[in-house]
Amino acid sequence: MNPVILFVSKLPAEIKNVWIEKIQKALPEELIVVTKNIASTELGRTVSDSAEIDKIEIAIVANPDLAELKKLKSLKWVHALGAGVEGLIDVARENKFQIVRMIDPNLANTMAESVLVWTLFINKKIPTYLEQQNNKLWKQQDCVSAYNCKVGFLGLGEMGIASANKLLENNFQVLGWSRSKKSIDGVQTFYGERELNDFVSQCQILICLLPLTNETKGIINRRLLKKLPKGASVINFSRGGMLNTDDLIKELDSEHIYHAVLDVFDQEPLAQESVLWSHNQITVLPHVAAITDPDTAAVIVAKNIKNYRNTSELREVVNLARGY
Ligand code: NAP
Repeated sequence: MNPVILFVSKLPAEIKNVWIEKIQKALPEELIVVTKNIASTELGRTVSDSAEIDKIEIAIVANPDLAELKKLKSLKWVHALGAGVEGLIDVARENKFQIVRMIDPNLANTMAESVLVWTLFINKKIPTYLEQQNNKLWKQQDCVSAYNCKVGFLGLGEMGIASANKLLENNFQVLGWSRSKKSIDGVQTFYGERELNDFVSQCQILICLLPLTNETKGIINRRLLKKLPKGASVINFSRGGMLNTDDLIKELDSEHIYHAVLDVFDQEPLAQESVLWSHNQITVLPHVAAITDPDTAAVIVAKNIKNYRNTSELREVVNLARGY
């Protein structure tokens, strides 16, 4: 019999229960468990026998307590339920286990929909019209047609490519920057440090979909913002650590930048006292650009675990040296 699979998460019990129920249903031949320390669920068997815990090879994780993972002596790999894995990299390196990340076309499509909505929000000057309505001002703004609007993606991975294609379908001009050279139909691609300035200087709307790593941390800073054309806008849907918010506010206040849509923050929930809440050129979203859907994601987790049991091979493994 296979060792049990541990579900490790600090999510609220009711959400945890939904996940365990759906994954267990998709994996009837396995037993998904929680340990006593984190047992706030009625579903999933609670495991407290240390001999049994010592045999655990696989964990399914969503915002996990890292101390819980460190205790698992035989842990070989974890399946993350989200696309971003920056919080797991150090512990995985230290404790020598692999990370399988969530690659779900439904998640990428959800991100692409959010990208389309907020790109149109900016392109159609909705922030200005909302402000005008507050001031009972009737004034038509200049409109840039989608085919004349250049939208650039920092990051051309699962999220970036799906989003780029969605914008192409909606007639935007699309550019993208990645670490390695890429060729994507209809997208003007750039790569590496050397081509960053050339890329940024053309983006009327810059959308960040990079993973948070040592290389990408703080990448959207004053220097990069100044390289954007005057009147450009920024959408950050990746992680708060990518953006220097003080630099952003300076560029918004000087009207070099028109608007910013921020879904992710260094501290979440965003602190009540944060100035970002009330800045009239910033739209704050509560980390909702692409939320993993348990219906589709549970099937993917089950498929990856079944594949591992049958072949001892892992797919979609995070490169721990690279950090994503
Ligand atoms: P991914 O498939 O790993 O793609 C990452 C992209 O970033 C790749 O194109 C990669 O280049 C590029 N990249 C990484 N480091 C770089 C560097 N130093 N310089 C230039 N390019 C670099 O990741 P993904 O699945 O698209 O997800 C991206 C991020 O979106 C996640 O890490 C997460 O933070 C965020 N996310 C947010 C939400 C939300 O609700 N707000 C939801 C899902 C995901 P290569 O292609 O050359 O490797």
